Amino acid sequence: MSQVKFPLPEDRIPTAWYNIQSDLPEAAAPARHPATHEPLGPDDLAPLFPMALIMQEVSREPWIEIPDEVRDAYRQWRPTPLYRARQLEKALDTPARIYYKYEGVSPTGSHKPNTAVPQVYYNKAEGITRLTTETGAGQWGSSLAMAGALMGVDVQVYMVKVSYDLKPYRRGMMEAFGASVIPSPSEHTEAGRAILAEHPDSPGSLGIAISEAVEAAVQDPGAHYALGSVLNHVMLHQSVIGLEALEQMDLAGDYPDVIVGATGGGSNFAGLTVPFIGRALRGEQDVRVVAVEPAACPSLTKGTFAYDYGDTAHLTPLLKMHTLGSTFVPPSIHAGGLRYHGMSPLVSHLHATGVIEATNYNQIETFTAGIQFAEAEGIIPAPEANHAVVGAIREALRAKEEGAPRTILFNLCGHGHFDMQSYLDFMAGKLHAYEYPQSEIAMALAGLPGVTG
Ligand SMILES: *Cc1c(COP(=O)(O)O)cnc(C)c1O
Repeated sequence: MSQVKFPLPEDRIPTAWYNIQSDLPEAAAPARHPATHEPLGPDDLAPLFPMALIMQEVSREPWIEIPDEVRDAYRQWRPTPLYRARQLEKALDTPARIYYKYEGVSPTGSHKPNTAVPQVYYNKAEGITRLTTETGAGQWGSSLAMAGALMGVDVQVYMVKVSYDLKPYRRGMMEAFGASVIPSPSEHTEAGRAILAEHPDSPGSLGIAISEAVEAAVQDPGAHYALGSVLNHVMLHQSVIGLEALEQMDLAGDYPDVIVGATGGGSNFAGLTVPFIGRALRGEQDVRVVAVEPAACPSLTKGTFAYDYGDTAHLTPLLKMHTLGSTFVPPSIHAGGLRYHGMSPLVSHLHATGVIEATNYNQIETFTAGIQFAEAEGIIPAPEANHAVVGAIREALRAKEEGAPRTILFNLCGHGHFDMQSYLDFMAGKLHAYEYPQSEIAMALAGLPGVTG
């Protein structure tokens, strides 16, 4: 790959996305139809996604060209900076060299616009005028709303109710970009009404909001649905992060021994790591890769690798992934983000085949690390990003214990400027070291659809 795509062009933005599926020795399991359980064909997904994204979803080509219009939009915030965390190294008194790729410089403050822009672009190219989606903390909803505003496509966002109530500024941001925002569960959809009939006070969940957004898209022939994580085409778009980082590490004259990322649905993690993992799979250069998730939502470390629904009402295709069960509702005391019940099938496959490691930390550990990072480096990380920060700090402390220098790279996937309430709660001692109980996991997993393959 290095001969063809590197060095990057003069603007230092990749011209093509890298597809990890091309380098997998064994293909990841296909998505299956929720009713027949047969592998999905492209037509099955056509009510939800444009054909260009469906083809990316199943492609095993190594490179997929980035359209000029998408690169033009990327140019506003890409390439994102790669920093060496010298002050943090000093504070930790570690022989390790710590680097971080900073995605918080995007207009909405996270990596999410990297896929929001191409998703809106391909939908618009196929004549779609309206997109529906869900959002939890609001990062994805505001990114899709921004991309919709840039390209003139209407965006409707089902926002998990507890976030809608607690994060008015994220909602304001979406509305400023012209999107309509509906607290979920809502009366707008059958899925929402069914939940409300049983649990009128439901705080909502990503699984419920996805059901509502999918239902709303299917009912409007001019509308499609957009998902900000989990799916293969999202992992593909996010690869711009790692492609830039490969060149930037090279400019720094260094190469990571270990890469750390936070995993919710897996997209910022995959985005940074897959170009490096591809090099390792092709036998070019080895690397250790560690996924970090919350103890409150531990899909990779405590979930099961099995076919499951992506949503609560079981409208989505079945994906083979690490899952906590589609009825999972995260505890509302959990402030650390990363609350989805499932994990990207590609990241799950990499974990199941031993290519990557996974670990989890509770929210006291993640916020403690976030504050330590902020005091050293001057950037307040998003609560989600704190999972990568704590993972990187633990690796650096291990290097110190072992008296062995090493190079650590992690993804600082967003800033925390809209998340200061959770920092206030942490500093006021209101957060607990919550761990999702094993008994609850067992119960949720009893509801898996039981599809093997
Ligand atoms: C959405 C989001 C995540 C979780 O999604 P992934 O697909 O796992 O990246 C993590 N961090 C930030 C800042 C986010 O906005």
